[in-house]
Amino acid sequence: MADYGHELVFGTFLTPQNAEPHAPVALAQLSERAGLDLVTFQDHPYQPAFLDTWTLLSYVAASTERIKISGNVINLPLRPPVLLARQAASLDLLSGGRFELGLGAGAFWDAIEAMGGPRRSPAGAVASLSEAIDIIRATWNAGHRGGIFVDGQHYQVRGAKRGPEPAHDVSIWLGVLKPRMLRLTGEKADGWLPTLPYLKPGDLERGNAIIDQAAAAAGREPREIRRMLNINPDNATVEELLPFALGDGVSVFILASDDPRAIQAWGEEVAPALREAVAHARQGAGTPSGEVTRSPKALALRRDGIAYDALPPALKPTAVEPGDKTYSTVRSTYIRSGAPGLVLRPGTAAEVAEALAFARQQEVPLAIRSRGHGISGRSTNDGGIVIDLARMDSVEVTGTQLRVGPGASWGHVAESLAPFGLAMSSGDFGDVGVGGLATAGGVGFLARKFGLTIDHVTAAELVLADGRIVRADAGENPDLLWALRGAGGNFGIVTAFELDAYPVSDVVFARMLYDASDTAALLERWGKLVEAAPRELTSFLYLFAGRRGSPPAAQAVTVWADGDTDAAVEALTPLLSVAPVLDQQAQLAPYPAIVAPHDAAHYGGQGDLLISNGLAVHLAAELNESIAAGLSSGAAPWIAIRAVGGAVNDVDPDATAYAHRHQNFNVSSVGGDPARFRAHWDGLREHLDGLYLSFETDQRPQRLHDAFPGDTLTRLRELKAAYDPENVFDQNFPLAPPSHS
Ligand SMILES: Cc1cc2nc3c(=O)[nH]c(=O)nc-3n(C[C@H](O)[C@H](O)[C@H](O)COP(=O)(O)OP(=O)(O)OC[C@H]3O[C@@H](n4cnc5c(N)ncnc54)[C@H](O)[C@@H]3O)c2cc1C
Repeated sequence: MADYGHELVFGTFLTPQNAEPHAPVALAQLSERAGLDLVTFQDHPYQPAFLDTWTLLSYVAASTERIKISGNVINLPLRPPVLLARQAASLDLLSGGRFELGLGAGAFWDAIEAMGGPRRSPAGAVASLSEAIDIIRATWNAGHRGGIFVDGQHYQVRGAKRGPEPAHDVSIWLGVLKPRMLRLTGEKADGWLPTLPYLKPGDLERGNAIIDQAAAAAGREPREIRRMLNINPDNATVEELLPFALGDGVSVFILASDDPRAIQAWGEEVAPALREAVAHARQGAGTPSGEVTRSPKALALRRDGIAYDALPPALKPTAVEPGDKTYSTVRSTYIRSGAPGLVLRPGTAAEVAEALAFARQQEVPLAIRSRGHGISGRSTNDGGIVIDLARMDSVEVTGTQLRVGPGASWGHVAESLAPFGLAMSSGDFGDVGVGGLATAGGVGFLARKFGLTIDHVTAAELVLADGRIVRADAGENPDLLWALRGAGGNFGIVTAFELDAYPVSDVVFARMLYDASDTAALLERWGKLVEAAPRELTSFLYLFAGRRGSPPAAQAVTVWADGDTDAAVEALTPLLSVAPVLDQQAQLAPYPAIVAPHDAAHYGGQGDLLISNGLAVHLAAELNESIAAGLSSGAAPWIAIRAVGGAVNDVDPDATAYAHRHQNFNVSSVGGDPARFRAHWDGLREHLDGLYLSFETDQRPQRLHDAFPGDTLTRLRELKAAYDPENVFDQNFPLAPPSHS
């Protein structure tokens, strides 16, 4: 008797017939409406009466919204495994993580050969399927460096590129029956998918025993492998199916039928009744339901100092450990590679409080992450805990008020505001997260007109170090609101922000590429023009060192904050005279188009990037000479200068913890060689005035004084003593409370 305690899944198995090509699509839509979880199709494209299954799967994915999609089963020999992996990953990405890979070793060889397909593998079906699974998984493992090399009995792969990674951890289910295939299922697959009418009495029990044994021998938990079953309408009753669920461990039932009434009854009547009967029986038997399973191999990768088994139940289903398949997607940030021992992914403020309480009891470092674009890389660690807020990504717009979760990206915020004719300036990159930016500053393309992002934050909800969930606004905890707007990473974990958005729809977006041979002169002219320009104009200038003897180049990315093209042209035209123009373009664009989100996965690995910055009132001659020297010597081969004057300077320096309100420019640069970069920056700082901590990797104590001048730092330290006396949030430019300093 076996019951592996999985949640039940119900699906349909539809004929991909092409006599009425839209009929299978309509049945898939009906399956979704009937509340079913999965729709599957057989894969026999050599049959002239059938639609090609991959094409049909893609069409169905685009015609449905929620239901999962799979082949039942995909015929392996028809496609090389690398291609198959890419097709699967592509469909998973396009469908929002709704594809699963039911796979078979091949059938109807005569038909495959007749249409010029491959011959039956002399190495045997088990070898080809086993090698294919390894190749498919290697292709999906986009975070792993290097190409794929396999010198198998059946497949030879010579340096194929990896990727893309699917949107979710795609399961591989094998439609097999023979003992060696069942052993392979236990060793490598995520599910066993037999068909009831082909089974003899006792086959399920025997098959389960072989799979369980092979799984244990491979260091896996038998429960990792889902037991599935294709059934006919005759068997689709609670009485018939209950013994399969409780006695044979079957948790995925797939009905083979093209009858709309049968599908509807399956989804609306049989599935809920069987779920209830199984839940009731499990309760009586004390069988745990829906628990995450980890193999001994995965458990061996756990790190010291974390009491994994003491994790609160609410956090368990979404927590990721080093042995989990999704670990590669959460271990690193945009900039840095990390190897945390545990990534907690709470979905509510209460869960954040639980995660924090748990983390505080462990003896490992703690990092807070919203969207992982922190420059200093402090939102991951080695062997510690990361509280990752990416699931808290809601964006709500009411009137001109924006309420947003820390895990949202600014690109998505822009898209959500646009239908209301509103915008919120953030930065120059749409994938940057709300949490990190709205607690530090927010130097964006509309800064001169509308100020920093933090200037529009009216309230925040956060979890404090002691676990209290509090609100900070003008009436409640106003000192905390002051501190959060500039030094937020030190005071708690913000779970929601409220901001006042402003009316912006179309903007003029211009790019000018210059020959920057005379870098200092270019800087002086560009700086003067930007300072004198109307506030609608905000410009970012990016300087690049020349390669192999070519002169340095500069690109000005300039935004005019409304759709008045005449005024924009008048203000932009002088910028064409700051240096020889190599290329230029300007266009009217909706604001979200200039900060479009890419939602790219993070694999870190950009090395130990060094980034430093400082602020300047004017781009004066000594500063410009020093910037030009860093560029030409290679000490700072990439430099960005962002305009931060105008409305940014309207705000009282004491109004927020970001006190730099008299400067017009932020100068930041990236370097690779630590000694040269640091020497260059130590010289450059003489000409700079203040620092924005979001563009800094230098950890020396003086940087804290650059970021928070005089009274600001004193006030922040007093508040730190009140709100985080034990310095729990000690990773991001930690302000040690007075007792620690
Ligand atoms: C490609 C790129 C372009 C950029 N361009 C700009 C720009 O034009 N203008 C600009 O202003 N900035 C820019 N930045 C910097 C960016 O604003 C910061 O790095 C910001 O911290 C990223 O936010 P995140 O949520 O993605 O970061 P994360 O890496 O998730 O977090 C960074 C840090 O912020 C703190 N933090 C994060 N979430 C919370 C929270 N919910 N509560 C409390 N503290 C939290 C933590 O201390 C964490 O270590 C850019 C960064 C990159 C990588």
